[in-house]
Amino acid sequence: MKRIPFLRPNLVHLDSYTPYLAQIDESRIYSNYGPLNTLFEQRLLNQFFAGRGALTTVANATLALMLAISLIRRPGGRYALMPSFTFAATPLAAMWCGLEPYFIDIEADSWCIDNRLVEQTLAELGTDVAVVVPYATFGTGTDLSYYSSLHSSGTPVVVDAAASVGTTLGNQHFGIDFPGAVIYSLHATKAFPIGEGGLVHSGDASLVAKLRQAANFGFTAARESALLGLNAKLSEFHAAVGLATIDQFSEKKSTRQQVYGWYRDQLDQQGLLTKGWGLQKTHGSIAHQFVPVLCPQGTNNLAVIDALDRANIEARTYFRPACHQQPSFSSFPRSSMAVTDSVAARSVSLPLWEEMPQSDVIRVLAALSTVNESK
Ligand SMILES: *Cc1c(COP(=O)(O)O)cnc(C)c1O
Repeated sequence: MKRIPFLRPNLVHLDSYTPYLAQIDESRIYSNYGPLNTLFEQRLLNQFFAGRGALTTVANATLALMLAISLIRRPGGRYALMPSFTFAATPLAAMWCGLEPYFIDIEADSWCIDNRLVEQTLAELGTDVAVVVPYATFGTGTDLSYYSSLHSSGTPVVVDAAASVGTTLGNQHFGIDFPGAVIYSLHATKAFPIGEGGLVHSGDASLVAKLRQAANFGFTAARESALLGLNAKLSEFHAAVGLATIDQFSEKKSTRQQVYGWYRDQLDQQGLLTKGWGLQKTHGSIAHQFVPVLCPQGTNNLAVIDALDRANIEARTYFRPACHQQPSFSSFPRSSMAVTDSVAARSVSLPLWEEMPQSDVIRVLAALSTVNESK
């Protein structure tokens, strides 16, 4: 049987961005916030964020996290509060800013950071907390009102929304009007893929302007470095791919939602939802990157990965190991990790890609059913 890959990244095809490449040839501007990047930013702001707040592109989301944390962290603070159930980029970005990650457990249903634990930890650590970095897990929308008021009352917040491009709550893009910084990734494996790239959006236009300056060596208009900067600019080539991606995004999103829907229906029809299997509880309308499911209590996700592999299906264990279980981060302080440990050991991310046929989804579910029976 043909192998079902976990992801099959599908960037827009050459013919859709050759007109933009021709413009690069003409302008001979290849980077440094050139005309295609400007157009890409304007279209994103208008079409995704209703023209509200401000937005800048970045070379990737990891650099955006570093720059945002570096700019808005509380001076003298020591800790960056964040979930352990996230990608390594989140704690690494804090470490590059000289901060110590402080890991907080997640909620059992949404797999997002537990706000009550954040509140408790803030009460204990006070101004030693330099920044809070919640993560919108696997692209879900989450209610950011707690973090809006936290940021506005003096505890800086950077939201890692790496997988949330195109996620809408109500009719609004996730993160719109947030007073701190919201970071999105445009990496090839995310749902709005341009190769490498990222976005920063904020309701605070002056914060975005500073971040944009920091992403260009901290240069002022007079080309004097006046901020701790680096080079995090998006090239015109990536902006060209981005412009073509905007045109095709709603189709890409609905294709991804269709495949996700097949999974949800199959989980239900095969009766797996009543046998202890579950889906991450998400909010809003998401351009799904893959399909995170929770295996029944007592099932080791590594055994499920093996069983799927024997059926020639590639799946992943995001995030196992969780950050606090990895060598770079295991010495950092943390809250109880009861839920993180359990979800890290029981969740499996199933394949999703744009051309995935329904028959492949049925094959994945059939393989999962056998895991269930052999238990
Ligand atoms: C993908 C991802 C990042 C990093 O994004 P890049 O654009 O690849 O640097 C950061 N955090 C999370 C949670 C991610 O999933």
